[in-house]
Amino acid sequence: MNMTESNISIQGVNLLDIAHRYGAPVYVYDADVIKRQYDTLLDAFSGVNVKIKFACKALSNISVMRLLRSFGSGLDTVSIQEVELGLYAGFEPHEIIYTPNCVSYEEIQSAIGKGVVVNIDNLSVLERFGHDYGNSVPCCVRLNPHILAGGNHHIQTGHIDSKFGISIYQLRHLLRIVQTYNIRVNGLHVHSGSDILDAGVFLQGADIIFDAARNFSDLEFIDFGSGFKVAYKDDDVTTDIQDMGKKISKAFNEFCDEYGKKLELWFEPGKYLVSEAGYFLVKTNVIKQTVSTVFAGVDSGQNHLIRPMFYDAYHRIINISNPEGTPRVYSVVGYICETDTFAWDRKIAEIREGDILCFLNAGAYGFTMSSNYNSRLRPAEVLVYQGKDILIRRRESLDDILSTQIEAVF
Ligand SMILES: *Cc1c(COP(=O)(O)O)cnc(C)c1O
Repeated sequence: MNMTESNISIQGVNLLDIAHRYGAPVYVYDADVIKRQYDTLLDAFSGVNVKIKFACKALSNISVMRLLRSFGSGLDTVSIQEVELGLYAGFEPHEIIYTPNCVSYEEIQSAIGKGVVVNIDNLSVLERFGHDYGNSVPCCVRLNPHILAGGNHHIQTGHIDSKFGISIYQLRHLLRIVQTYNIRVNGLHVHSGSDILDAGVFLQGADIIFDAARNFSDLEFIDFGSGFKVAYKDDDVTTDIQDMGKKISKAFNEFCDEYGKKLELWFEPGKYLVSEAGYFLVKTNVIKQTVSTVFAGVDSGQNHLIRPMFYDAYHRIINISNPEGTPRVYSVVGYICETDTFAWDRKIAEIREGDILCFLNAGAYGFTMSSNYNSRLRPAEVLVYQGKDILIRRRESLDDILSTQIEAVF
C-alpha cells in the first residue's frame, strides 16, 4: 500500500475511490501482496521440496483461491463445503488436503469419494477408515505433539486438552491400528495453532514428528501446518521466515536422508498469505461524545469483522478521508446491538461523520467469519489485480436473507 497521505492506494488504485465506487462496507484485497507472501515462503524453503496449501478458511472467495492456484498453491480445507468450493474453483483433488475435526464419518467418506487427501485426527475414525478402505486409499494422520506456542490461548491447538489431532502419546495405539488394517499412511500432519514465534518451537515439533515418522514406511509428505505470525501492530514480533526456512529445511533434509526418500514438505498458511493483503473499508455514521470518551460509530460491527471482539485482535485503523487531520483519540464501535468495539482509545486522524475508515490486516478471518446478525447484509469484496479493481463478491441484499426462509402461513 502506498501511504503517501492524501493518496492512499494499492497498485495505484485509490482506496477511497473503491469505497465510493462499490460503497461501504467493503473488503479489498491486494493480489500483489498475496503473491509477495507466497513467494517469500517458497524462497525461504527453496532447499526442500516444499508445497504450499492455502488454508482457505482464512479467505474462501473462489477468485482468491483461483489466484493462489495460479501461483502454484494447493488448498487446505476443514469442511466438505470447502472441499467442494476448492474443486469448483479448479483445484485437482490431489492438490487439496482435507483436515476435518469432529465431523461425521459420512463426511469423511464423501471427501474420500472426491479423491482429496484425507487427514485423520481421531483413532476411532482411523479404525473405521482402516476397516472400510484397508490399503486401497492412502491417508494422512494428524498428530498432536503437545507443543505450546506463546500465542493467544484461543488459537492454540497443541495443548494437552486440545481436541485436535491424535496425541503423540497414543502413537503405539495408532501404529497397532495401522498394522491391523494395513493402512497406507502417506503423510503426517501437525498444526499447533496460530502465532508460533520462532523456528525453535517449530523445530521442537518437527523433532517429535520425525521420531514418529520413523515408524511409517509409506510416507510421501510431512505437513507442518501453519502458525506463521503476522504483525498487526508496528512493534509485533513476526516469524523470521528466512531463518526458519534455513533451519527447518536443514532438519528436514537430514531426516529425508535418514528415511531414505525425498519427502515433500507441506505448509498450510492462511493468515500469512492473505492477512496483510486485506483492507476493510467502513463509513463513519456518527461521532458520539460521552462524558468519558469520543465514539466513532461505523456502518459495520462484529457481523463483518469479529476478530477484535472474538480474539482481542488488534487492527490498525486509519482515516482515509482525512489522513492529514489532527490525530485525536477515539473508540471505534459498530452498529450492532452488542458491545462490538473495534478499538478503544485509538489515536486516529480527526474523524468526521461520513469519513471512510480503513482497517488494516483484514484479509484473514474477516469476511469468512462474517454473519447476518441483526439481519445485516454482508459486505462486498474487491480484488485489486494488475492495477485494476475487480468486484469478486456483490454486497448482499434482503433477498439473500429471505432466500432460505420458507414462509409459514397463519
Ligand atoms: C486454520 C488452519 C490453518 C491456517 O492457520 P493460519 O493461522 O491462518 O495460518 C492451517 N491448517 C489447519 C489444519 C487449520 O485448521
